[in-house]
Amino acid sequence: MSKIAVYPGSFDPVTIGHLDIIERISKIFDHVIVLTAESSQKNYLFPVQERSEFLKKALEHFKNVEVDVFSGLTVDYMRKRQAHVIVRGLRAVADFEYEGTLANMNYRLAPEIETFMIFSRPEYYFISSRAVKEVARNSGNLKGLVPDFIIPEISKKLRG
Ligand code: ADP
Repeated sequence: MSKIAVYPGSFDPVTIGHLDIIERISKIFDHVIVLTAESSQKNYLFPVQERSEFLKKALEHFKNVEVDVFSGLTVDYMRKRQAHVIVRGLRAVADFEYEGTLANMNYRLAPEIETFMIFSRPEYYFISSRAVKEVARNSGNLKGLVPDFIIPEISKKLRG
């Protein structure tokens, strides 16, 4: 049976931290689905189609990584795809509580699905989409925080 992992998130926009997690899990699982979420509760800078296009471009060299879009419960998507592992990343302690709550809610909704946590590498643990947007709003240098091709897209979006 091939092992499929689903890595769900907002990816608004995808950062070098996300890409590091994807690269690492692509070596462990047969197939990785990066699932771009559309949630009514969040204010995104980029619409879901743009967020997923950025991911596709950044991940095109990975043979076993797919990018998909979904609005709804991650576990419903997973059942549809017959996937049993959710992967989430952990940075600082602040992530722990949120991720623990999410993992247990998903367990409650779908006990057959397991959440795997993967620690950020030390060089990426301070990188978040939110921090990237804050740096961009204040005209800071985004080099090395997001893929190069996304830097002008962020400036364009913030100016527009
Ligand atoms: P969400 O809005 O669902 O939290 P994000 O796009 O912010 O989505 O993040 C998706 C997942 O990736 C989360 O589990 C988050 O903790 C993790 N993550 C984000 N940035 C990093 C990073 N620099 N290193 C490791 N994990 C990260």
